[in-house]
Amino acid sequence: MKIRFYGARGSHPTAVPIDRIEKIQKNIWDLARKSSAKTWSQFQKEIKTKPHSFASTYSCHTTCIEILSEGSPMPIYVDMGTGLSAAAGDLASGLNNDKFKADSGEAAFFITHTHWDHIIGLPTLYRLYKPGNEFHFYGAHKGLKKRIAGLFNKNYFPVEFDLLEDRLHFHELRKDEQIPFGKLKISTASQPHPGTSFAYRFEYNHKIFVIATDTDLSNTMASSFPKGKNIYSGATMVAVDSHFTHEDYLQRKTHGHPSIERVVDFAASEEINNIMLTHHNPAYDDEFLDALLESAYTYLRSKYGERHPLRFQLPIEGNQFNL
Ligand SMILES: [Zn+2]
Ligand SMILES: [Zn+2]
Repeated sequence: MKIRFYGARGSHPTAVPIDRIEKIQKNIWDLARKSSAKTWSQFQKEIKTKPHSFASTYSCHTTCIEILSEGSPMPIYVDMGTGLSAAAGDLASGLNNDKFKADSGEAAFFITHTHWDHIIGLPTLYRLYKPGNEFHFYGAHKGLKKRIAGLFNKNYFPVEFDLLEDRLHFHELRKDEQIPFGKLKISTASQPHPGTSFAYRFEYNHKIFVIATDTDLSNTMASSFPKGKNIYSGATMVAVDSHFTHEDYLQRKTHGHPSIERVVDFAASEEINNIMLTHHNPAYDDEFLDALLESAYTYLRSKYGERHPLRFQLPIEGNQFNL
């Protein structure tokens, strides 16, 4: 499976402010003056020794994760945040494969929930308006079609739903259901979040990717798994909501997002060693996200020991991981 993060920002998209861009320019200038690099690639290697925020940004778009797999009959997207427009603009994405170029493409969306930041990218997906393309929507919320149709209402958007309806197909999953999808096995499990959200597990060729965003992680068990197992069991990589610092979590306990310390405790107790920290708080700039990443390691080492194998990463927009 190829997993590509087209959006990892939570709640709403963010732009990189001009003062941050100016700081990045200054960082690069200062480094260049001291550098002995003779080529651009040598200088890039020096930049990479710095925290990511030194010269770049993590993610501006909201949640959209692409899964491409030879075992899947079509490209899969988890959520349709504004990252969907980044996917549509990337020539390497499944939305620009040969079938879509011939206006006979097919794609599937697995929807964690329908809060704005997870669906708002759909109406501007230009492939939607090309007759011949077909789209499948999977989700475990009741009334999934009505929720998506509500995006295409002339009070909010110029195109009405009935113009698209024939080419959009809705598949309501049962809570905690497992389905075959081509040669993939896809499972879902409900999560604690206002209005309920759903985690998804994608399994193919002994590799397992789980996305668990918009959850406060207070109840992580799923009934469809055998006793002692759950949706995370044996996962190769898990992308987990990491929206809050401990202090911010205490102020916003009802928002349905965890503190970074709870993410560490969750990963350690589930014995997951590869965690992508996603749904970045839009109030946290890139330097703060680097500090949040470091705080995860500080907490891990102090509570679970220096040698604990758990590793965290912050996804960078457009990053691809091959599982
Ligand atoms: Zn969200
Ligand atoms: Zn949400």
